[in-house]
Amino acid sequence: MEPIGLNEKMIEVRALADAKGFSSDPARIWEMLALIHTEVSEATDAYKKGQSHEVVGEELIDTIIRILHLLSALDQDAEALFRRVMDRNWERPHKYNTVRGG
Ligand SMILES: [Mg+2]
Repeated sequence: MEPIGLNEKMIEVRALADAKGFSSDPARIWEMLALIHTEVSEATDAYKKGQSHEVVGEELIDTIIRILHLLSALDQDAEALFRRVMDRNWERPHKYNTVRGG
């Protein structure tokens, strides 16, 4: 795994998690997935309450941090995954052939 792009961020997130005592044990995968939801909910709540876009953005960054922590716990190459999925999406048709968008 090259320490570039998302991997660089993932390495920093993992270092922070380790330094602050947050376990990356596979037994926590379910909890880590749930915590990703909580950050999206916090962003939703902030937006609903009319808080600034900066506050909403901070909650979305919290979400990214939790996703990167989980990808690290799963021993994944975040940059390679991002590239693969984006390349696949670029090849998909307009609105991915969905009827109502998304
Ligand atoms: Mg938060």
